[in-house]
Amino acid sequence: MKRALITGVTGQDGSYLAELLLEKGYKVYGMRRRTSTPNYENVQHIRDRIHWISGDLNDLASLIEAVRQSDPDEVYNLAAQSFVAASWPQPIATAQMTAISVTHMLEAVRIVKPTARFYQASSSEMFGKVVETPQKESTPFYPRSPYGVAKVYGHWITVNYRESFNMFACSGILFNHESPRRGLEFVTRKVTDGVARIKLGLQQELRMGNLDSLRDWGFAGDYVKAMWLMLQQDEPDDYVISTGEMHSVMELLETAFSYVGLNYKDYVVLDPEFVRPAEVDLLLGDCTKAKEKLGWELEVGFKQLVHMMVDEDMKRVQSETRYYELMNT
Ligand code: GDP
Repeated sequence: MKRALITGVTGQDGSYLAELLLEKGYKVYGMRRRTSTPNYENVQHIRDRIHWISGDLNDLASLIEAVRQSDPDEVYNLAAQSFVAASWPQPIATAQMTAISVTHMLEAVRIVKPTARFYQASSSEMFGKVVETPQKESTPFYPRSPYGVAKVYGHWITVNYRESFNMFACSGILFNHESPRRGLEFVTRKVTDGVARIKLGLQQELRMGNLDSLRDWGFAGDYVKAMWLMLQQDEPDDYVISTGEMHSVMELLETAFSYVGLNYKDYVVLDPEFVRPAEVDLLLGDCTKAKEKLGWELEVGFKQLVHMMVDEDMKRVQSETRYYELMNT
């Protein structure tokens, strides 16, 4: 039985990856940080099948202990401060949680189990103010936010540990990937949740930032398969994972609202609060290498993804409404 340690297991990607590894017969260890109100929403259905270990990315001793306890064949480092907009008001916390923490994790693996295979969650945000389109593994980075800068550090320290210590360390440069489990502050989920609330009469408008940004949006469930594939190869390497299709925030709004028979122009209000100090205008990935070397294929396209997210948010908002009605009768 293979053993895997996942940091960030309660997040969107961690939960899909844990499901995938459990299906494959892995013993899955999930690292969790102590919080006053733990949130297991994404992993509720598999909570009993995960072996829980307490740890904190900024506490090296706890990471050493987590690697010692789990004795992993594979380590997936998915934990981070992952929201770009939050990285301006909290640049130093972002550097600690998204950049330095990668070195902590790599050190824990190097000290305790240097033969374990290591996956680092890198990001298309590293391409930022893109210097070529589409972006591939060899495209130079030009990050545009404290988050992007922190992810560049995480990427290069992973490459450096591979080259310095001969560790099997891979960096997956994943373009935006979404799902019904995406945090509500990200644009896709904000829109699909907003559409559900507006359709059900609970909200009258949706306040948005820059509608012209272009993103390469895929389904998180497809992307975690690429993470696993990277660690099954003969040699460690870095890969871009993307759909190769680009859509604007406006198209996202159009697709989500029209799915429930509404016109987004009747509800969307532009609000400077959601405009960022520096913007990533467009991201478009070229994942030829992943397709050829990993045999990775994506299954869910843009429209299907948006419809899936609207469907799930409609169901969730309806059941929450029913619950409150029952409580008030
Ligand atoms: P990111 O690509 O990692 O920053 O993912 P997000 O989902 O947070 O944002 C994607 C794009 O949507 C960015 O270019 C944002 O500026 C744009 N956007 C426009 N309005 C909003 C909004 O209200 N919330 C968020 N999160 N993003 C918005």
